[in-house]
Amino acid sequence: MLPDIADLDREDELTPYRDLFVDNGTVYLNGNSLGKMPVHAIELMREVVEREWAHGLISSWYSKWLKRPQDIASKLAAFLGVSPDEIFIGDSTSINLYKLIFGALSYQKKRAEVLMDDLNFPTDYYVLKGILEESFVGHVQKTIASKDGVCGDEDGLVEAITENTALVFLSQVTYKSAFMYDMHRINQKAKEKGALVLWDLSHSVGSVPLDLQGSNTDLAVGCLYKYMNGGPGSPAFLYVRKDLQEKIINPIKAWFGHKNGFAFSPEFEPHAGIQKFAVGTPGMLSLSATEPGIDLMNQVGIHRLREKSIKLSEYFIGQFYDRLESLGYGLESPKETNKRGSHLTLSHEFSDKIYKALSHPQDSSKKPVVCDFRPPNLLRFGIAPIYISFHDIALCIGRLEEIILDQEYKNII
Ligand SMILES: *Cc1c(COP(=O)(O)O)cnc(C)c1O
Repeated sequence: MLPDIADLDREDELTPYRDLFVDNGTVYLNGNSLGKMPVHAIELMREVVEREWAHGLISSWYSKWLKRPQDIASKLAAFLGVSPDEIFIGDSTSINLYKLIFGALSYQKKRAEVLMDDLNFPTDYYVLKGILEESFVGHVQKTIASKDGVCGDEDGLVEAITENTALVFLSQVTYKSAFMYDMHRINQKAKEKGALVLWDLSHSVGSVPLDLQGSNTDLAVGCLYKYMNGGPGSPAFLYVRKDLQEKIINPIKAWFGHKNGFAFSPEFEPHAGIQKFAVGTPGMLSLSATEPGIDLMNQVGIHRLREKSIKLSEYFIGQFYDRLESLGYGLESPKETNKRGSHLTLSHEFSDKIYKALSHPQDSSKKPVVCDFRPPNLLRFGIAPIYISFHDIALCIGRLEEIILDQEYKNII
C-alpha cells in the first residue's frame, strides 16, 4: 500500500490496541453497530462461566455478582467524567428510554410538548409514541425537521424550546449521518425555559468527548455494544444528574429498584439515588462481558480516541473527494469535523450491490470490508479508532473505487 499510510500507522500511539481485539479477518467498519470483541473477554467469560456460574452458583451472587453492576458503572462513570452515583448500567437502551421519558413527563406535569427532530433512531420514536398514547394522552410531539436529512436544524430546535416544552429528546450523534448536536447550547436554552433534555448517547459514547456535568445534562441513555465493545445485546446505561434523582420516578417499580428488595416486603419503596432506576435481576453474563471493553476505552481515554477518529475520518473524506465522488458516490455526513461523530455515510445508486461486493468479494484474495447498508441507498462506515488503522481505510477506499471501475457491482444479483 501507500508508504505514507504505513508511516501513519507506525507513528500512531493507538496502534498497539488493535491487537487487543480479536481479528476476524475483515476490514471491520461496523463498530458503530457492534464493536469488536476484546481478546481479554474470552478469558474473562471462561472464568465467569466455569468458575462463577458452574461452580459458584448461588454463592456467586453474594461473593461477586451483586456488586458488579455498580463496579462496572463506576468504570464507565470514570470514562464519562461523571460521579459513579450518577450512572446505572442494566436493561436495554429502549427500556432505559422508557423509564426516563416517562419519569421526565411525570415530573413536568404542567407541560405537554415533547420536542424532537426527524433524525433519531426508530426505537426512540416508538418508545415515545407508546408512552404518549398509553399514558400521556393529550401530550404532543413536535418535530423540527432537518433541512437536508443530514444535519439537524439546531437553530430551529433552540428557538422551538418554550415554556410549554416538557422534554427535548434527541440523539446527540445521529445514527444515519453522524451529525452531532451541541449539547451545551441545547441544554442551556432548555434550562432557561424550564424544559428537561434527554440525550440518547448510543452513537456518542466512546466516539466523541462528552461533558455531561459541564454541559449541565439532565438525563441520558446509551448503548455499550457499539463503540464501547461490550458485546452483543450488552446492557445499556442511564445517567440522571444527581439533583434530579429524587424528582424523576422510575415507572417500572420492581425489586432491584426497591429500597430493600431482599426484605421481600409487599410494599414498594424506591431506593435512594441512581439505584432506583434498576428493575430486575441483572443479566450477569452479558454485564460481565462489558468490562474488558470499558477498561480498554478507559486506558486510551476519549481525547486520544477522538483525535485519531478525526485523522482517520479526514483521510477518508480526502480520499472520497479525490477518488470516489466522480464515481457517483455522495458524502451524506456533515463535512465540518466539529459537527460529526465517528462514522461516515456515503450514498450511491448501487449501494446495495456495493455493500454485497464489499463484504463478499468474488476474488477471494481480497479482504472483505464490513460496513452497513441502510436502505434505500446509504452505506455507513463506523470508524472505531481503538482498532481501525489508516491501512483499513485505504483498503476500503480502494475497494469502493474498484467495485465501480471494474464494474464488479454488475455481477451482484
Ligand atoms: C443502537 C441504538 C439504540 C438501540 O436500542 P436497544 O434497546 O439496545 O436495541 C437506540 N437508540 C439509538 C440512538 C441507537 O443508536
